[in-house]
Amino acid sequence: MAHIEPYRRLSLNKEILMGSRRTLIAGNWKMNGSRHSLSVLAEIARPTNDLPPHIEVVLFPPATLLAQTATLAKKTASKLGGQDCSSNSAGAFTGELSAAMLNDFRATYGLLGHSEGRTRHGESDDLVRQKSIQALDAGMIAVICIGETRDEKEAGRTFDVLADQLAHSVPKFSSADRIVIAYEPMWAIGTGTTPSVEEIEGAHAHLRDCLTFEWGANAGLISILYGGSVSPHNAMEILGLPSVDGLLIGGASLNPAKSAAICSNAAALHMGAGA
Ligand code: PEP
Repeated sequence: MAHIEPYRRLSLNKEILMGSRRTLIAGNWKMNGSRHSLSVLAEIARPTNDLPPHIEVVLFPPATLLAQTATLAKKTASKLGGQDCSSNSAGAFTGELSAAMLNDFRATYGLLGHSEGRTRHGESDDLVRQKSIQALDAGMIAVICIGETRDEKEAGRTFDVLADQLAHSVPKFSSADRIVIAYEPMWAIGTGTTPSVEEIEGAHAHLRDCLTFEWGANAGLISILYGGSVSPHNAMEILGLPSVDGLLIGGASLNPAKSAAICSNAAALHMGAGA
């Protein structure tokens, strides 16, 4: 936590720098949860009621729980998202869900290009871009995940890899305010290991530069989230970084106490920043 004070001071200007960008706390439940775990899910959504209105909480349940989570989200301030979507709009694609189908369940966010899909199913940047286009066409906000592997990091290639993934995964000519980038170093996901705050800040600043090069002033509308082993212990420090617009949380988002702690960290930080 040695770096938190200078970074927090910098974050006082964050609201001004961010303009109208979204601040998001997103929970990716992955392949977890059942109808019987709804009471726990309700606990997870409850802290969102206490957040300032400019912070959006997005829940990404598995598709089987979309309907129940939609009902839950309606009672709280949280938004609903679909994990993944097809790169096609309809037709003979057994096992796939279109973005429009997810949107039909009131999912207004789509999570695309997660590292588990990229590594387990060999999803390419091109496929991620097609899926993102589908999500945007369905009127959703596309949360597009990118991040380097440990080997790429150790080879000093992080910035090149991120620039490349950004250039090929993010649809051009779309509304910047409906694009969100989630920087998730693959080696940090589910490992309990995170980059240093300097590394996160450096990667996010690099992504912001790349976005500005491509999108000009509209890049200012694109939020950049950090994801990878976020916990109540590091959430405040990471969220306090000037270039971090929010968090994408996996494991901790399934734990009501941890979710509540992260949300109250976010609220405290943002209320402090606005003071
Ligand atoms: C994720 O899966 O997107 C993620 C960030 O997981 P975790 O928080 O468990 O590392």
